[in-house]
Amino acid sequence: MSDKINLTVIGAGTMGNGIVQTFAMHGHAVTMIDVDDKALERGKGAIQKSLGRFVKKEQLRQEQVDEILGAIATSTQLDRAVAGADLVIEAVFENEAVKTEIFHKIDAAAPAHAVLASNTSSISITRIANATKRPEQVIGMHFMNPVPLMKLVEIIRGERTSEETLAKTVAWSEGLGKVVGVAQDYPGFIANRILMPMINEAAFALMEGVGTREAIDTTMKFGCNFPMGPLTLADFIGLDICVNILDVLHQGLGDPKYRCCPMLRRLVEAGKLGRKSGEGFYSYE
Ligand code: NAD
Repeated sequence: MSDKINLTVIGAGTMGNGIVQTFAMHGHAVTMIDVDDKALERGKGAIQKSLGRFVKKEQLRQEQVDEILGAIATSTQLDRAVAGADLVIEAVFENEAVKTEIFHKIDAAAPAHAVLASNTSSISITRIANATKRPEQVIGMHFMNPVPLMKLVEIIRGERTSEETLAKTVAWSEGLGKVVGVAQDYPGFIANRILMPMINEAAFALMEGVGTREAIDTTMKFGCNFPMGPLTLADFIGLDICVNILDVLHQGLGDPKYRCCPMLRRLVEAGKLGRKSGEGFYSYE
């Protein structure tokens, strides 16, 4: 089970290219799929840049980088690219209709033995699995950003995910040097179920004037030994992503304690999405 596998990753964005890079660094053959060549070039560029940083830190030699890049194929033809895959990981936009359509296509084209995984942060694996004829081979592999550096893979068991699929997925993740946390399929799984209410509470505390943004982040960073404060982290994640996940928790669990802080929603409505837009809780101009 620790043998090298053929992997296809659908989506060459932030998470997709990080997953591709990580598997290629561990000797697996990977095909990266996106809708057009531009997206694939951006994904490959991000991988080259990241590998360059490993060379600078003397953690990789240039020959190794060349070998890793040689193990990565790119394509816009999903059907052909999944035809030889042992594992397919979907990492497209966080949109259930888009993911469902992709799983339907992957299921039709992937070999019978292939495991189909989603990197979704919040969408039900059980519902995604319903788009396939092999729900027992569908599972969540929730990598963290940046994938090559973050240790955790949160693995999510859908209602019908088999023990065999779980065991394979755990073994593949541990083979990448990752640590695994297994979650059942409830809204937000484990990571976001706990992280997002904390970020939301930090936003409420800011809105109510309990403390300044700096006071809130400093207190949590140095008082709880977090690597960064919750507002800084929210800006990294993207405030729009935080609002979406809070809405999933609120709707899916039906408990008012998950209601999104109005100030957090207002920032998103004003286009203040965090680092990626230049402003969120903090300004990055
Ligand atoms: P992203 O926007 O950076 O990339 C998404 C990519 O998918 C784009 O390149 C897009 O062109 C491609 N795509 C869209 N539709 C496609 C299709 N039909 N076929 C092939 N490619 C398609 O998004 P991201 O941040 O990498 O997030 C991807 C997934 O990972 C989401 O489900 C998200 O919730 C999850 N996730 C994100 C993070 C994060 O910090 N960014 C962390 C954990 C999980």
